[in-house]
Amino acid sequence: MADATGPSAAPATSAETEKKTSVGIVEPESKPQTAEIKRWGDMVDDEEQPGDTASSSDDKVVEELKVDKLAIDDSKKINKFLDDPEDSSIQAVTSGDTPYTSAATFEDLNLSPELLKGLYVEMKFQKPSKIQAISLPMILTPPYKDLIAQAHNGSGKTTCFVLGMLSRINPNVKRPQALCICPTRELSIQNLEVLQKMGKYTGISSECAVPMDSGNNDRSRSRPPIFAQVVIGTPGTIKRLMSQKKLSIIDMQVLVFDEADHMLAKDGFQDDSLRIMKDIERLNAQCQVLLFSATFDETVKNFVSRIVRKDYNQLFVKKEELSLDSVKQYKVYCPNEVTKITAIKDRILELGESLGQTIIFVNTKRSAGMLHKALVDLGYEVTTIHGALTHEDRDKIVKEFKDGLTQVLISTDVLARGFDQQQVNLVINYDLPVKYETPSEPHYEVYLHRIGRAGRFGRKGAVFNFVMTDRDMMIMEKIDKYFGTKVKEVPSWNSEEDFKAALKEAGLL
Ligand code: ADP
Ligand code: MG
Repeated sequence: MADATGPSAAPATSAETEKKTSVGIVEPESKPQTAEIKRWGDMVDDEEQPGDTASSSDDKVVEELKVDKLAIDDSKKINKFLDDPEDSSIQAVTSGDTPYTSAATFEDLNLSPELLKGLYVEMKFQKPSKIQAISLPMILTPPYKDLIAQAHNGSGKTTCFVLGMLSRINPNVKRPQALCICPTRELSIQNLEVLQKMGKYTGISSECAVPMDSGNNDRSRSRPPIFAQVVIGTPGTIKRLMSQKKLSIIDMQVLVFDEADHMLAKDGFQDDSLRIMKDIERLNAQCQVLLFSATFDETVKNFVSRIVRKDYNQLFVKKEELSLDSVKQYKVYCPNEVTKITAIKDRILELGESLGQTIIFVNTKRSAGMLHKALVDLGYEVTTIHGALTHEDRDKIVKEFKDGLTQVLISTDVLARGFDQQQVNLVINYDLPVKYETPSEPHYEVYLHRIGRAGRFGRKGAVFNFVMTDRDMMIMEKIDKYFGTKVKEVPSWNSEEDFKAALKEAGLL
């Protein structure tokens, strides 16, 4: 395993501090600040605060699950990457001679009746998606080999590692036995919610380990030790709890990295992730490591294959096969910022709720604040999220959007990965995603993750990429080339017919 170097700096202070005036509106403050060091990591990860959410699933006992009554509706075939385990777009490389048979039904997986009830009754799932059918036997079969798993956005990876964690918990051991590390508090909370819902009838306890609000900051009242059997959180908080000996790793059976390519990238959370992994491995050489993401570029793929145990299993997808057919991608030439805002206003917001929910991605907090103000001044209701808001406000804005109380959310890349809201049909790249160090280069992975916020689990979706400069044009060309796509052009930013035609083609109108 590569060496973990000391603690890494949490990304995120902005070039200007921003003060919130009302939900989602930001105003610059005059205080000088440290320069922004990372693009993707707009999230402020990790200041441990007391009073973290601690919750455990309820202890209900299942009486009896009539599994045979829960018929599978085969007529609902959606997409080949979801449905067809024989299709070649996900390639499996298994190690050694452990045989694995893909699971046509959840019953094939020898899950406990409590977990099956969670899947059918709580989650309302009917049968495993393709990535679930292929990866779950690998995850759940002794000798519990490590797994590097790549699969499309929205194809159900969470269920793979959540079932992996829940299946390995010894109910008699009231200490942490499974740990999942995620890049943001939003994703940690979302994954915990999925785990608690799916595991509702198991009696397994779980807890979130994410930074809490500075408003409650009282370091003398420190956080109690964690007894929950599953812990999900962000790397800085997890690492701190481990070094404070408040998170015991002695019984750890499963260690998951969601968005693993980012968690183990140099410009991501590599240092913290490796430290956590190494500490656990030292005490528990048999702990299973599961790495999940929709993207693994070559560098990170090579790296992660060296840090897992030798006989690991691997699932991967060629980058040319990663784009979702059900999400139509467009580019729109807008000569300046004013036309970009006008296009959003007249061509999208005017269509109202018939489009479902929309996420507008921007590259900076400044851009988020500017767009927010412009749209609110024009009389539209939008909310905005980025890493400089308080945790409380971030949670509130996400909750309102998830509850359907807001329709249009402006976001930096804090929500680019993992965020799962089935009602999101439309993604707008107000700014195209570029590498922070070399802004003439597209950030391919971020592009794929952003557009994957639409079209969850085979649903229809559309993406509008706003192209303003020559550099933007080149970036779109490079994106096309990289993913083997041909992003269509909407002929005029100013034409209602053009936008409607695009949305119709995408199946949204
Ligand atoms: P990703 O692969 O991007 O992590 P998620 O795990 O967030 O995808 O799942 C995307 C959506 O698909 C979620 O809303 C989830 O509830 C739904 N989903 C996952 N598995 C199934 C299934 N077997 N049947 C129906 N819906 C599913
Ligand atoms: Mg995910």
